[in-house]
Amino acid sequence: MVYKKFAPRKKFCRFCASKENILDYKNVDMLKDFITDRGKIIARRITGNCAKHQRALTTEIKKARQMALLYYTATHSTDVRKKTT
Ligand SMILES: [Zn+2]
Repeated sequence: MVYKKFAPRKKFCRFCASKENILDYKNVDMLKDFITDRGKIIARRITGNCAKHQRALTTEIKKARQMALLYYTATHSTDVRKKTT
């Protein structure tokens, strides 16, 4: 058996796989798995979500942003302005 050095990429939709994963805008910790540190939504080919759930996820992330549970982009951070060196 040959194992790859990289962590095996699980290519399955985690929402299809488990009903414990509730796709909801209030579930911020879960949503954070699907956005980058700059606030971008991670592409489906990377996360392995199915089309149906990726679409639903996008909607929930956008809802969460409106509720200020998530950020739109990292540049909104106040630290950016302080950096004038
Ligand atoms: Zn799915």
